[in-house]
Amino acid sequence: METYPIPMIPGPVRVPPEILAAYQKDYGSADLEPEFLDLYNRTERELQQLFGTKNSVVIHTGEGMLVLWGALKSCLKPGDRVVAVANGVFSFGLAEMAEALGASVKVVPIPYNQTITDWQSIEVALADYRPKMITVVHCETPSGTLNPLEQLGKLKHEYEVPLLLADVVSSVGGAPVKVDEWGIDLALGGSQKVLSCPPDMSFVTVSDAAWEIIEQVNYPGYDAIRPFYAAQKTGAFPYTPYWQGLSALHIAAQRILDEGLEHSFQRHAQVADYCRQRLIKMGLSMYPARSAITAPTVSAVNLPEGIDWPEFDRRLRTRGLAVGGSYGPLAGKVFRLGHMGSQADLDLTTRALDVIEEVFRAI
Ligand code: PLP
Repeated sequence: METYPIPMIPGPVRVPPEILAAYQKDYGSADLEPEFLDLYNRTERELQQLFGTKNSVVIHTGEGMLVLWGALKSCLKPGDRVVAVANGVFSFGLAEMAEALGASVKVVPIPYNQTITDWQSIEVALADYRPKMITVVHCETPSGTLNPLEQLGKLKHEYEVPLLLADVVSSVGGAPVKVDEWGIDLALGGSQKVLSCPPDMSFVTVSDAAWEIIEQVNYPGYDAIRPFYAAQKTGAFPYTPYWQGLSALHIAAQRILDEGLEHSFQRHAQVADYCRQRLIKMGLSMYPARSAITAPTVSAVNLPEGIDWPEFDRRLRTRGLAVGGSYGPLAGKVFRLGHMGSQADLDLTTRALDVIEEVFRAI
């Protein structure tokens, strides 16, 4: 496998050596030891700080989509109504997942290069539809936008919607996420973005209201949230303890807390700002419609007319730089720099931009 000295893919990001070291440790016969629950509880407390919450955090082994699917299945029954605020690949995906589970989904569509500004259509949907759940994605990684969640939380209360589910996979730790203040019932994150671990752990915060609904729905699948509740009460972990992944996540969360959350937000914002300004100086344009809605963790850039993405990508990689393409309707039209976690680094980003500039000059 080729490795690139300038990694700027928007997840999985480069794993720092001190996190990688957790995977080299041999836990031998360590199985359902009390130490595992202790590590789980400590990691949960650290994640609570990252999410700004006192709610429990359920930590699954598995990728982000597994936890999104498990959270939806844990809370929805066929026929339940959902309002999906959708402005990108993952938020439209959430709507499709809820539909596949038999929910009645009303999508409030927003162009991919925008975030929520038309609050009125959301209010109309909430008033008319009276949903059980609102779904939204904080940072739409494929389009590099960051949605304002605070106001959505206020509307959730105003219209007495039982659940607000927010995918914060590519924002938490790198942009403010205030679960309790904003009233988010289920906020979902993944290990391979700002936390800079491999893509093997995912986690979801669960409010008291969400626990009640999870108990009522009583979904029994292996991606369910419910069994973790018992684990915290009885001390019996429901599945095989994944020592390496959990240790890595613990180290990763601690690293962010040691740096200071505010400092991490500033570092991400500073790198994103610098990246945007240099790209614009090169004559490129950002995919998001306005700079105020760009994400601090990922920059999505319009690929100029006539430039073939695979060839552009090949030229960057020949020079040691790995960036991301995009998905869905943005495939071949947008490329992305992931400056999150270990990659939210001015020096690394400068080197990446130098390569991009050189390749564009030569085209
Ligand atoms: N949600 C967002 C916003 C993402 O960017 C991603 C992955 O890129 C996911 C969900 C899915 O995570 P995973 O690839 O771990 O399933």
